[in-house]
Amino acid sequence: MAVDATLPYDNQNIFAKILRGEIPCKQVYEDEFAFAFHDINPQAPTHILVVPKGPYVSWDDFSRHADDAEIAGFIRAVGKVARDAGLVERGYRLLANAGPDSHQEVPHLHVHIFAGQPLGPMLAR
Ligand code: AMP
Repeated sequence: MAVDATLPYDNQNIFAKILRGEIPCKQVYEDEFAFAFHDINPQAPTHILVVPKGPYVSWDDFSRHADDAEIAGFIRAVGKVARDAGLVERGYRLLANAGPDSHQEVPHLHVHIFAGQPLGPMLAR
């Protein structure tokens, strides 16, 4: 079910549990601001999720309330994860769902990194 991204942060969401080490994941990267792991249900040969360490529901919440260091750190981490995975030359796609129309399912901001094949049109019609 899509989340209501206007709700307060729920620290029992699945990515919060992954960040606390309560649920296993296939970790890719970690630094002060961000954590990255493979999506459990990959939609492309490479499908990595990057999440900020702070408690932000969505892109809207993050861009309103995170401080400049968190925002810069997170954006740099997304780029580094893609670079370290060798995705720059062939290219990759970033996607962040926010709110009901986007079908955001997990109420902790995450950026999807898709790569490893031609990714087709931007949106299904
Ligand atoms: P979204 O629809 O943008 O909220 O995407 C949520 C993503 O989280 C989906 O691609 C799921 O496959 C992924 N996901 C859900 N649970 C886990 C988990 N435990 N470990 C890794 N990825 C997960």
